[in-house]
Amino acid sequence: MHIPFNKPYLTGKEADYIRLAVESGKISGDGLFTKKCHSFFEETYGFRKVLLTTSCTAALEIAAMLIDIQPGDEVIMPSYTFVSTANAFVLRGAHIVFSDSCADNPNLDISAIEPLITKRTKAIVPVHYAGFCCDMKPLLELALRYNLYVIEDAAQAIDSYYQGKPAGSFGHLAAFSFHETKNIICGEGGMLVINDERFIKRAEIIREKGTNRSAFFRGEIDKYSWVDIGSSYLPSDILAAFLYAQLENKKPIQEKRILLWNMYMDSLKHLEAKKSIVLPSIPAGDTNNAHLFYLLCQNAEERDKLILFLKQMDINSVFHYLSLHKSTYYQDKHDGRTLAHADRYSDCLVRLPLFFGLTPEQVRLICRGISDFYK
Ligand SMILES: *Cc1c(COP(=O)(O)O)cnc(C)c1O
Repeated sequence: MHIPFNKPYLTGKEADYIRLAVESGKISGDGLFTKKCHSFFEETYGFRKVLLTTSCTAALEIAAMLIDIQPGDEVIMPSYTFVSTANAFVLRGAHIVFSDSCADNPNLDISAIEPLITKRTKAIVPVHYAGFCCDMKPLLELALRYNLYVIEDAAQAIDSYYQGKPAGSFGHLAAFSFHETKNIICGEGGMLVINDERFIKRAEIIREKGTNRSAFFRGEIDKYSWVDIGSSYLPSDILAAFLYAQLENKKPIQEKRILLWNMYMDSLKHLEAKKSIVLPSIPAGDTNNAHLFYLLCQNAEERDKLILFLKQMDINSVFHYLSLHKSTYYQDKHDGRTLAHADRYSDCLVRLPLFFGLTPEQVRLICRGISDFYK
């Protein structure tokens, strides 16, 4: 039986809502379902203002424009992350200063950040890896002390909480993803969260190709025109219709993922006890949104063998994040510091299949395979 790494799923109403969107006569951006999604997020998580975007990447690009990144500005972020975290700022001319991960989880090691701050530092971009929030309390204190912007890459962190507050509510701005590999999906999609009021008006303009069309549609002005830089960052209401159907089923989706995540944990504990592998530990103060399940092997060679072993059982597991400081594009621009923990996650981490349609039997089969590998 083939077990894919990920498989998109329908929760029931997606096709109905897409039909409704089309029949409403408006399937460009900011239609009926986009508004429903906006209200959902603002009401459920108390975000000051949200805007659906075509991707998390797009939301990060808007964020970089909003904080007015200029060539030579420095932005601090983890090296162990997806390329968009950095690329959105590099597009505006920023120099990325990569910081290392924690020893016990891939999130930013907050204690390593302060020595990296210079006069040119403009922002810190924490990534909530696997949906576990970064240690935001000391991070926000540091940002306040040095007057830095905080932009959360919360792509993986929907429905995650840190000390009782939702991911995405900490930074001046935050970005989420609804890519088909995330918990709540619409194929390709994302969202910008604006917690700092000062950015709301300009965010709407940047998202609408640099025009004040949003204010025009609300009847606040009698014609719209080109007023700032921007691009086309609105998703079609067809995508929002798909997304809204998923949001209505957030609870069962999350319950199922958490069930599967806990099964992995229980079934693999004996291997951690024998020191064969290292399992994820939930950082203090965090909840688990079960975005992804990973384990760490001893080294890259063993990791590659495990992935191959599972592949021979027709199970697709993957590794990810070649650390960005060693990437083809950025290695010459990096200042040469060694980032040992980031390298370890690049070399040793394996992600196991985790999606709504995965069954407990399949999780048991995968865990049996991993146990057999370590026999
Ligand atoms: C998935 C992901 C992104 C990109 O999301 P898109 O919606 O595909 O642009 C960015 N950062 C992190 C950490 C991610 O996991």
